[in-house]
Amino acid sequence: MVKNDPFVNATKQVNDACDILGIKDKELREYLAMPNKVLRVKIPVKMDNGKIRIFTGFRSQHNNDRGPYKGGIRYFNPEGGVEYMEREVMALSSWMTWKCAIVDIPLGGGKGGIYVNPKTEKISDGELERLTRGFAYKISEIIGPGKDIPAPDVYTTGREMTQIMDTFSKLNGNVYSPGVITGKPISMGGSLARNVATGLGAAYTVREAAKVLKLSLKGAKVVLQGFGNASTFAGEYLEKMGAKVIGVSDSKGSISIPKGAKVSAILAHKEKKGSVVGFPGSTKISTEALLTTKCDILVPGALENQIDAKIAKNLKCKIIAEAANGPTLPEADPIIYQKKILVIPDILANSGGVCISYLEWVQNNMGYYWTFDEVANKMEKNITKGFKDAYEMSKKHKVDMRKAAMALAVSRVVEAFNQKGIWP
Ligand code: NAD
Repeated sequence: MVKNDPFVNATKQVNDACDILGIKDKELREYLAMPNKVLRVKIPVKMDNGKIRIFTGFRSQHNNDRGPYKGGIRYFNPEGGVEYMEREVMALSSWMTWKCAIVDIPLGGGKGGIYVNPKTEKISDGELERLTRGFAYKISEIIGPGKDIPAPDVYTTGREMTQIMDTFSKLNGNVYSPGVITGKPISMGGSLARNVATGLGAAYTVREAAKVLKLSLKGAKVVLQGFGNASTFAGEYLEKMGAKVIGVSDSKGSISIPKGAKVSAILAHKEKKGSVVGFPGSTKISTEALLTTKCDILVPGALENQIDAKIAKNLKCKIIAEAANGPTLPEADPIIYQKKILVIPDILANSGGVCISYLEWVQNNMGYYWTFDEVANKMEKNITKGFKDAYEMSKKHKVDMRKAAMALAVSRVVEAFNQKGIWP
């Protein structure tokens, strides 16, 4: 048993969705909750000092009823140890299944990783490469362009994706196989627009939410928690839609900018000074004050577990777009729903990333590459439809958007499962 088991939470969400959909069959519920396969591997690596170190890696393949498994590979060492990590990748693979289903891309859910922290441990580039290639070798039998397509995640980048692709190609008789993995550098078959995908996708979902609330984005006030990839691009694209950023934060603190400021100007300040704090015309405020600023759109785009019941009671926004994964605690959801704040849940708001990963895979498989706008426009169609479908579900079943998005996803997977039937 692991403490605070994330897979218990993932299972509960599946059961809640089944309740909404009237799915009573226990076996079907278990089928939907449990991963199809969890592979745990031992990876021996020759370290620079000549000694062997054994690492542990995982790949969880949750569901492939709608298409090959898809999901990141993280290099991380959660506090609960390797046993916790196994449960974590199982939960994360489940969320990938639902995320792909909401935006209706023909992929299932996977997740994996190695229990290692390249940021805090002394591990050389050579050791890391041998580890990555060793891991790719160990999971090579279960991944492939038509089987399971990994991607970057916590502390893995295009460099590791390239090494995995290269190892896989070599193991398969040197067949060029860019479609085995996404998140590759452009020169290795990566897709244009992948770098902005998550923020751009979040901005599209906000635009749709504003439409249903009849809220004009012209002059709409935006608060961004976090100032990294997901949040800054969300801010920049919302700016392009007419909105104005009036508060931001990073790991060094939060600031209020009552008159508003351009994201590019705040970025330039952060680049020079190392933080958003001290931006001209701003006042330093607490995290709680940032999250409860009176605004139209709040984008929690940094960390998990940020909005608890106390903060939820004091929220003064109209839309929350969860660019980060898991920023809202379950205790806060009913309070936010009662306050009629429209939450765009993480599995929808930040799905622009997986949409463009999917488009990278499509381009790799056909060997033909689209322009930035072509990729962005295709993603826009999927994510906008995902929003509309989830919103309809929330109205139909009178539930919040988080529950509605999950119910929508589960219904789509059940439909595919029923079409296929069971073999043998
Ligand atoms: P990032 O590393 O680019 O940015 C994270 C930001 O959070 C940084 O600006 C950092 O300063 C800030 N931060 C750290 N601690 C903070 C604190 N205590 N208070 C306020 N800000 C703090 O990461 P990212 O890729 O933008 O990811 C952010 C979130 O979005 C994560 O939850 C991630 O899982 C999720 N997400 C990202 C993508 C993607 O494609 N980038 C896709 C899906 C989900």
